[in-house]
Parts: sequence; structure tokens; C-alpha cells
Amino acid sequence: MQHGNAPASPLVGRVALLGAALVVATLGLGARQVAPSAPTTTTTAGSGTPAAAPARGRLLVFSKTASFRHQSIPDGIKAIKELLGDRYDVDATEDSAVFTADNLARYRAVIFLSTTGDILNDEQQKDFQGYIATGGGYAGVHAAADTEHTWPWYGELVGAYFKTHPNIQPALVRVEDRTHRSTRMLPAEWRRTDEWYVYNRNPRGRVKVLANLDDSTIQGATMGGDHPIAWYHEFEGGRSWYTGGGHTSESYTEDLFRKHLEGGILWAAGAADTAPQDATQVPAGGATTKDATTTDATTKDATTTGSAGGTPK
Ligand SMILES: [Zn+2]
Repeated sequence: MQHGNAPASPLVGRVALLGAALVVATLGLGARQVAPSAPTTTTTAGSGTPAAAPARGRLLVFSKTASFRHQSIPDGIKAIKELLGDRYDVDATEDSAVFTADNLARYRAVIFLSTTGDILNDEQQKDFQGYIATGGGYAGVHAAADTEHTWPWYGELVGAYFKTHPNIQPALVRVEDRTHRSTRMLPAEWRRTDEWYVYNRNPRGRVKVLANLDDSTIQGATMGGDHPIAWYHEFEGGRSWYTGGGHTSESYTEDLFRKHLEGGILWAAGAADTAPQDATQVPAGGATTKDATTTDATTKDATTTGSAGGTPK
């Protein structure tokens, strides 16, 4: 940390280091923000560049719509900023001109938030494909599957296209994978209300299914008993995560849906995952490790909701 900061004499250096050590020791655990250049005895003016804060990644939320427009889009943007704004700079746009190779390279993940229709031209599609091929992340929410129906590569990236939907209604979602960071906080039987998409094909086999909608609990349109509703996969060098939920504005104030969304975006962004992977081994009530994670998230939610809630960009 102090390289390039050689003191004038070894003795002065040792004294300064000792001083720094004492300061650190005195401040103890609470002093997370002690800068390497902190000791006031240091006289190396100009060379005491404070260590930069850990580099913040960027996320791009894309919500351009060429057909149906969901009223919940602003709620989704707000939620994503609240959930991840402490770790990422979150840009939200409806301008497809941002889909250039150079610009996309700045982002850890691109979130298609209820996009619809044909929204990228050929050049933008090519650049987005290149972004994924070089390790980029994609997170699709709800109508992201109702997007670019005539671009086969996109259909493979998402896993399946939207076909139809019954009316908004409560349903039982069976969480199949309770180890993934977007689903490990969910109950095995997750009951919630949303507009439930039926897809043009069952994506199972192409993707790793996280949650399955119990078709016997919905009316109007089903997928015949195997109805994946959230999934992920590694795809052509990048990462793709999708959730079918998120039609309603209420989704984005639901604690569990928010955590599901946050975890999915983090996975798509390739963020380091410090939580243990064996959460399924614990009983449904949760164990200490899981509690630690959710407590963290809850605290964070509470703080960011207050401070970041009203910052439109
Ligand atoms: Zn919808």
C-alpha cells in the first residue's frame, strides 16, 4: 500500500510506521477507513496519495420498449438503485445508442428491465453479443423475454420467449435450487402474486432452472406442469440470469422479490460471493450463516431505502 512512498531515512520511516501501527491499534476494529497516509507526522507532501476506494463497478439498466410498456419500470429502476447503489454506479437508460462495444465494456452487467419488442439495431446487437462473449453479464426481468423475438441469439441468451400470460393472480412458486445467490433466501414454497408468463418453449435443459411455477395453482394459461419461472446459465463466455416476475409495481417493494432480483444481478455481474454455498443443507427456518446474510441485506435495504430512494437519474 505504501510502495513509492519511501521515507527520507530508515529511522524516520520506522518511527512513522510505528506511529501508524499505534494509531491503527488504538482505533481498533471500528476504524475501517484509516487511510494509509493517515499519520500526521508524515511529511511526504504530495506523495501521500490516499488509497483509492475499492473500484466500484457499473451496472446498466436498460428499459427501452418498442411494444407493451410496463408501468412498473420506474419502480424497478428505483429498486435496483436502492439494492445495489452502495456497490455499483447504476445507469438507467432507454437509449439503445449506448450499446457500443466501448461503452458496454464499462459495465459488469446489463439489466433488461421489462424491455419489449425490437429495440436494438444490427450493429448494437453485434456489440452486445461481443460484450457477452468477453465475459459480460445479462439479467433479464419479466418482459425481457418479450424482446427481440426475431433475433435468435437473444432467444438463446434469455432461454425462452414470452408467449402469453393469464391474469395477474397469486401462485405457488417452487424453488428448485436453494443454493444460488438469487434463490437461497427464498422458501422452498414461495407464494406471491404477479403476472405469470407462459413461454414459447420449456427452457429446461438449455438453462439451470431456479424456480418452477406450480401450474396447478394458476388459471388461464399454463405450461403443462413444468413451468420454469426463473433460471440462469453460462452462455457463450458470459452469464445470463432471468426472472419471470416483476410485472407489478408491488413486486419491487416485496422483500423477497427484491433479494431475488439483487442476487440475480450480482450473479450476472460476476460479483464475488462470500456466503456459503450449502444453504440448502440448513432447515427451512434458516441457520446462522443464512441469518448473517439476510441480516446484512436487511440492514442495507433499510439504509439505502432512506438515502437513495429519491435520487432519480
Ligand atoms: Zn407483464
